Amino acid sequence: MLKLGIIGWRGMVGQVLMERMTHESDFSHFETHFFSTSQKGEKNPFTIANSNPILQDAYDIETVKKMDIILTCQGGDYTKKVHSELRASGFIGYWIDAASTLRMEDKATIILDPINKNGIQSALKNNQLDFVGGNCTVSLMMLALGGLFKSDSIEWITSMTYQAASGAGARHMNELLGQMKFVTDRVIKPGIDQSSDILQVEKTVKNLLSDPQFPKDHFGHPIAFNLLPWIDSELPNGQSKEEWKAAAEANKILQSKTFIPIDGTCVRVSAMRCHSQALTIKLKKDIPLNEIESMISEHNPWVELVANNKESSLKKLTPEYASGSLKIPVGRIRKMNLGPTYLNAFTVGDQLLWGAAEPLRRMLHIILEK
Ligand code: NAP
Repeated sequence: MLKLGIIGWRGMVGQVLMERMTHESDFSHFETHFFSTSQKGEKNPFTIANSNPILQDAYDIETVKKMDIILTCQGGDYTKKVHSELRASGFIGYWIDAASTLRMEDKATIILDPINKNGIQSALKNNQLDFVGGNCTVSLMMLALGGLFKSDSIEWITSMTYQAASGAGARHMNELLGQMKFVTDRVIKPGIDQSSDILQVEKTVKNLLSDPQFPKDHFGHPIAFNLLPWIDSELPNGQSKEEWKAAAEANKILQSKTFIPIDGTCVRVSAMRCHSQALTIKLKKDIPLNEIESMISEHNPWVELVANNKESSLKKLTPEYASGSLKIPVGRIRKMNLGPTYLNAFTVGDQLLWGAAEPLRRMLHIILEK
C-alpha cells in the first residue's frame, strides 16, 4: 500500500477534502499519515483504517520523506518552506498541492482532469512528480466553459468575479461572521426602529464599519455590508495577481498553441462559500445559441445548464444553490447586443470542491491507475 501523507486537513480546503475522501472511500487504497504544523504528537482525530494514530510533524523532512505521496492543502508558506528542501533531501514521491506556489513551475502540472487528463497522464509518464490544483476561480470557469474550450470556439474572455469570503481561508470566514455580528448586535435591538428610519440605520452601519473595535484583522477592511475589488497582491501592470492567474493558468492547463487572452476584475464579496463569475466570451465565429448550449452541457457531467430566465437564474445561479455540491451551474447564456460573436454567461461553483479539494483527490486515483 502506498504511504499517503496529508497536510492541512484542519483548514477550509482540508476539511472538504477529508469529507470527500471519506465519502468516496479513498482512504481504503492507502496507508495514511496525518501531519500538522501546530499539533504534532497529538492524537489523529479521524477514525480511518490503516492510518497512523499520531499526528506527525509537518516540518520534519525525514518523516515527510518516508511518504510515497504528499497531499498538502496547508498553504503557500508551507510549500515554500518545505518543498525544495524535501526534494533536495532526495524525496522522489508525488507532491499534490492546493497552493499556488509551484503552479507555474515548468516541472509542475496544473491538475483539472475533466479538462486535461491527457496532459496529466503524459506528465506522469515523463516522471513528473509535482501536481498542483489550479486557482479555484480558473478551474470553475474552465469546467463551466469546457465545451467551448474543447471546440476551440473562444477568441478571448473577460471574467468579472464575485468570490466568497471562504476563498481566503477559515479565519476570514470567521471574521465575516464576526463583522456581521458586530453590526447587527448594535443595530437590531429594542429601541431602534429599523423600519421607520432606515436611512439613520444605514448611517449607523456605515459608522460601525469604521469603528476602531470593528473586527478586520484578516481582511483588513469590512467585507460584511461591503465588497472588496482587489484579491491577492498588486502587479506592476495594474492587475491583481488573482486576475493574472486567469489567462496564465488556463492556457497552461489547455497547453494552448494559441494563447487565449482572459482578463477581468476579481472581487471579494460576502457570500460564505462559492465563487461566481460573469463572463463575456468573444467567439471565433457566430455559433447558434442551441449549439453553444449543447457544447457546454455535454462537456462534463457536472455542468448544469440553467435556462436564461429570471426564475431559474435566481434559483440556480447562486452560491446558495451550488454550495456543498459538485454541480457547476451555467446560465444567463445569450448573445449580447455587442454582436453575434459576443456571448454572455454567468456561472457559479463551489470553490472548495471543484475549485480545490476535488481535483486533488482525483489525482490520487490517476496515480493509482498509472
Ligand atoms: P486555511 O483555512 O487558512 O487553513 C490552512 C491551515 O491554517 C490549516 O491547515 C491549519 O494548519 C491552519 N489554521 C490556523 N487557524 C485555523 C483555524 N481557525 N481553522 C482551521 N485551520 C487553521 O486555508 P485554506 O483556505 O484551506 O487554503 C489552503 C490552501 O488552499 C491555500 O494555499 C489556498 O490558497 C488554497 N486554496 C484555497 C481555496 C479556498 O477556497 N479556501 C481554494 C483553492 C485553493 P495547522 O492545523 O497545521 O495549524
